[in-house]
Amino acid sequence: MVDLKGQYQKIKPEVDAAIQSVIDSTSFINGQAVKDFATNLEKYLGVKHVIPCGNGTDALQIAMMALKLKPGDEVIVPAFTYVATAEVIGLLGLTPVMVDVNPKTFTVERQNIVKAITANTKAIVPVHLFGQSCDMEPILKLAKEQGLYVIEDNAQAIGAEYTFSDGRKAKTGTMGTIGCTSFFPSKNLGCYGDGGALCTNDDALAERIRMVANHGQKKKYYHSVIGCNSRLDTIQAAILDIKLKHLDEYGKARHDAAAYYTENLKDVKGIEIPFEAENSTHVFHQYTLKVLNGKRDALKKHLEENGIPSMIYYPLPLQEQEAFLFITRTAESLDNAKKLSDSVLSLPMHTELTSKEQDFIIDKIRKFFE
Ligand SMILES: *Cc1c(COP(=O)(O)O)cnc(C)c1O
Repeated sequence: MVDLKGQYQKIKPEVDAAIQSVIDSTSFINGQAVKDFATNLEKYLGVKHVIPCGNGTDALQIAMMALKLKPGDEVIVPAFTYVATAEVIGLLGLTPVMVDVNPKTFTVERQNIVKAITANTKAIVPVHLFGQSCDMEPILKLAKEQGLYVIEDNAQAIGAEYTFSDGRKAKTGTMGTIGCTSFFPSKNLGCYGDGGALCTNDDALAERIRMVANHGQKKKYYHSVIGCNSRLDTIQAAILDIKLKHLDEYGKARHDAAAYYTENLKDVKGIEIPFEAENSTHVFHQYTLKVLNGKRDALKKHLEENGIPSMIYYPLPLQEQEAFLFITRTAESLDNAKKLSDSVLSLPMHTELTSKEQDFIIDKIRKFFE
């Protein structure tokens, strides 16, 4: 599904030197590279504050803690997403309220969210799933009208850009109250272990986020709130700082590979190729087909038999996950999420994919539907 080895080989001397220099400095925790990377990511995203942390799940948890959400508060999440989005809500004793997604874009929209708002709703978590931005303008407007926080789950879409109706552009993760991202190795900006970050344009909130992520202390050994311990390793930051310089180039490689799949699969009856929204660039964290007529599992098996990996993100919508059966307040029908779980199939997608490899995959898919 991904080729992390091939990508490493291309930047090996730079990365190896950066790792060695962290080891030589022995400044393993909160070293200079952490600060440098945060500053460079702030510049890249066009956001005032980037606060690195341990992983993307921690980022979501810290966001909700920094916003002082408390038990009883409802947080709106898409039913079709990775579990982390809703998990931290449950962990903090908040109530996840699942809403359906648009079956074309795989993301939540204003119309899904509006029906789920109650007097207890405090925040919305739009997830920029598979590498494309949610339609943020109507969501941000709704949040403003209703006094809700917007926590963007940008784990899959770093580098994607959304265009507002007046032509203004913004990177995903920088539009809401807080943006959260992950540097898990297979993410579009991945490190060589775990990593994550939060972004915000709010100075006071940035300070609170830093405090929560650092045992609830501003001054060492003086703890004002219950916090947690979540840090990005200096070694990981040094690697990320190098990879950040290549992020747009990586995005282009993914986009080119996606365009090649699309060009050669768009006429195949029995599948739907990914939809590309006009108001967002797509950084193709995943290239996800919808397989029609209940043939998804058979196609997956056929690819497997030909040595081609494929993945189902995600086989079970949140409302059917055992862990959420008891705590979830479900607002309305979640049929689209259910249907997507039964029909989606993601193809190999990464920065090192060659057209020869893609030709092989495309050929096997076409043969299956002949
Ligand atoms: C990967 C991911 C996360 C969690 O990131 P980790 O770094 O693995 O904790 C959260 N949300 C979404 C949508 C993700 O894809």
